[in-house]
Amino acid sequence: MLGAMGITLWAPAGSGVAADAPAAPLAAPPVRPDDANLPRSRATHTIAAAGSDIPTLDWDTLRERVASCRACRLCESRTQTVFGVGHQRAFCMIVGEAPGENEDLQGEPFVGAAGRLLDRMLPAIGLTRAEAPPAQQVYIANTLKCRPPRNRNPAPQEMMQCEPYLQRQIELLRPRIILAMGAFAVKALLRSDQPVGRLRGQVHRYHGVPLVVTYHPAYLLRNLPDKARAWEDLCLAAAVAEREAA
Ligand code: URA
Repeated sequence: MLGAMGITLWAPAGSGVAADAPAAPLAAPPVRPDDANLPRSRATHTIAAAGSDIPTLDWDTLRERVASCRACRLCESRTQTVFGVGHQRAFCMIVGEAPGENEDLQGEPFVGAAGRLLDRMLPAIGLTRAEAPPAQQVYIANTLKCRPPRNRNPAPQEMMQCEPYLQRQIELLRPRIILAMGAFAVKALLRSDQPVGRLRGQVHRYHGVPLVVTYHPAYLLRNLPDKARAWEDLCLAAAVAEREAA
């Protein structure tokens, strides 16, 4: 499983552990013993954009609205908007930060180096970006639908303007679990500036939907030791999704 995430495995000779064995999908992810008593944070904010009809839009109209959005200046520099991709009834929703250069060009989230790591991580817990039933195929979206110039951080004003689109995506999807990747997903969904390292390992809630925080794949590319923690987060998310189904 760690191998699937690009973590080099070492095993002593004769231990029976195959260091380069391919990752098998987890049918039933392990439930941590303290899972039932996990602390839950409170997401207290409500749908923004008062006076807007965004909370009433269906998938197609929402996608069109995003494509023609000019609510902030990011529309001036984007090649195209990046709405989101995946099964519209996916059990698992992944929320990242904002499109980068590749995403801006291709119109799909997480298609650069960070996306390739994400694509390697997902099968390790039985999930995929490829076409599959809703239990396996994820839905991936970002807090911002347009690329910030030179990949700078999203500005608070941009996040505020874009937030109703993500909120509506979550409402339409009603996932069993949201995986919030990185500080900006956390900021948008939990209204928290706490470091990811402090928020991970717990089950939070976003408007009632269980939410697990983990490191952004781009961070993991630079901080290899935290891949093992990201692996724990994926297992927790899978366990919560399983529990929600019961
Ligand atoms: N990083 C993100 O957070 N989202 C993307 O779509 C690409 C990189």
